[in-house]
Amino acid sequence: MFNKRTKIREALRMPAGSSDITVMGWVRTLRNNQFIALNDGSSNENLQIVLELGLFDEKLLKKITTGTSIRAVGKLVESPGKGQLVELKASGVEILGLCDTEKFPLQPKKHSLEFLREIAHLRFRTNTFGSVFRVRHALAFAVHQFFNERGFVYLHTPIITASDAEGAGEMFKVTTLPFDNTPRDEQGLVNFKDDFFGRATNLTVSGQLEGELASMGFSEIYTFGPTFRAENSNTTRHLAEFWMIEPEVAFNDLEDNANLAEAFVRYLINYVLKNNREDLEFLDQRLAEEEKQKPQNERSEAGLIEKLESVASQDFERITYTQAIAILLDSPAYKKKKFKYELFWGADMQSEHERYLVEKHFKKPVIVTDYPKEIKAFYMRQNEDGKTVAAMDILAPGIGEIVGGSQREERLDVLEARMTEMHIPIEQMWWYLDSRRFGTVPHAGFGLGFERMVQFVTGMTNIRDVIPFPRTPKNAEF
Ligand code: ATP
Ligand code: MN
Repeated sequence: MFNKRTKIREALRMPAGSSDITVMGWVRTLRNNQFIALNDGSSNENLQIVLELGLFDEKLLKKITTGTSIRAVGKLVESPGKGQLVELKASGVEILGLCDTEKFPLQPKKHSLEFLREIAHLRFRTNTFGSVFRVRHALAFAVHQFFNERGFVYLHTPIITASDAEGAGEMFKVTTLPFDNTPRDEQGLVNFKDDFFGRATNLTVSGQLEGELASMGFSEIYTFGPTFRAENSNTTRHLAEFWMIEPEVAFNDLEDNANLAEAFVRYLINYVLKNNREDLEFLDQRLAEEEKQKPQNERSEAGLIEKLESVASQDFERITYTQAIAILLDSPAYKKKKFKYELFWGADMQSEHERYLVEKHFKKPVIVTDYPKEIKAFYMRQNEDGKTVAAMDILAPGIGEIVGGSQREERLDVLEARMTEMHIPIEQMWWYLDSRRFGTVPHAGFGLGFERMVQFVTGMTNIRDVIPFPRTPKNAEF
C-alpha cells in the first residue's frame, strides 16, 4: 500500500516523540537547504520538515523546489521555532514529482486574485483558495445536514429540460442538430422533430417546477444542483453556471417560508463558525488586510467573524416591498441623488438599493416581501390587493439578493389566468398544472444561490473566486 500517511493537520496535533510518521504533500518553500514547509491541503498550516545537514544528497536537495511533491518519513520532535509545536525530523525524503521552477507560476509570495484566476488549475495550492474551498465543502455538507435533520427528501431534478421556470429567456440550448444545414420546416423555422429529444430543450435555470411536483407527495423536498443562465451580466455576483439549493414545502405559507429561509441561512453560518474556525480566522485576516488598502470611509467597520456572529445571532429584519420603497425614497442617498437607477413603486430594486437597505439602513440581513406582480414570476401567489404577490427575497450585506422565493399560486383558475396574461404556454405545462388539479395545497419554497452564500461566509468579493472553475461570459477555460 502506497498511501500510509498522516495528514499534516493531524501530524501537527500529535505529541512530540511520535516516530515512523509518513507525510506527503507539496513543498511551499525550502529554506537554507534544511527546512521544508510542506502542505497537503488538510489545512493552511504547513509541517516543517527538518533535513539534518549532511544526511541528504546535494543532488536531491537541488530538486526540492516550490511546488515539488514529496514523501517524507521521520520522527515528530518539539519545534524550537515559533509557529508550530512539532516538526518532522526526516530520516528519509523521496521526490514524487518534480516541479519546473522556471515555469511554475506560483511563487511563495502574494499573488493577486486576478492572476490566480488565470491559473485556476493551480490556485488550490494557495492559502486563500485552500480556505475558501474547505469552507465551500463544509457549507455543502451543512446544507444536507440541515434538511436531513428536518426530514426533507433530497430530490435530483433534471439538468436538461424543455421548460423555462422563469418564463424568461437567458437559457443555454441543448441540441444535437448540426449548425450548418439545420433542418427547417416549411416556414423556415428550425425543425426540432429531428433533434435528439424531438423538441427544443435547454439547460435548467431552476429545479423549482419539478421540486413543486415532488413536494405534492413528500411534503418537504430540497434540490441542490447546478443551474445555468446565459445572462450576459458581467458582475461580481453572477455566474453562467452556479449551484442552487431549492427547498419546496407543502402546507407552508409565505411566513413559514421566510422562517425556513432565515433558519437555514443562520444554521449554515453557525455550522461554519463552529467547524471551520481556522479557515475563517485566515479569511478574516485576509479581508482585514484588503480593507486597509481602501480609503478610510469605504472600509467596513466589522471583521468577517464579527459580521458572521452578528448575522447568526440576530433576527433578520422583515419589511414589505412597499415599505422598502418608502424607506429608500425618504433616504438621504435618494435625496442627494446618489442612486443611479430610477426608483418608484413598481420598480425592480437594483443592487444599489438593496445594499442601501441592508448596509446603511438596517445594518443586518433584510427579508423583503410582497413585491409588485409585474416584476415577479407567473407562479407566485397573488395577494388580495390585486397588485402584489407573496414573494420574498433575502438581502445580505455586501451581496444583495442571496435568497429568492415565494408562496406558490395553488389556485388553478388564478394560475391559469396569470399564465395566459403572461403568455406562458398552458398546454405545454399540463404536468405542472396537474399538481393544482389533483389535491392542490398551499405551498412555498425558495432558491439560495450557493456561491453567494459562500461569498458571504468567506468575505470574497468576486463570485469567480468561490467556485473552482467559474463559467462567465467569454470564459470557459479549464
Ligand atoms: P439577481 O437579481 O441577483 O440576478 P435573480 O432574481 O435572478 O437574482 P432568482 O432567479 O431568484 O435570482 O434565483 C435564486 C437565487 O440564485 C438568487 O437569490 C441568487 O442567490 C442566486 N443567483 C441567481 N442568479 C445567479 C447567477 N447568475 N449566479 C450566481 N447566483 C445566482
Ligand atoms: Mn438574475
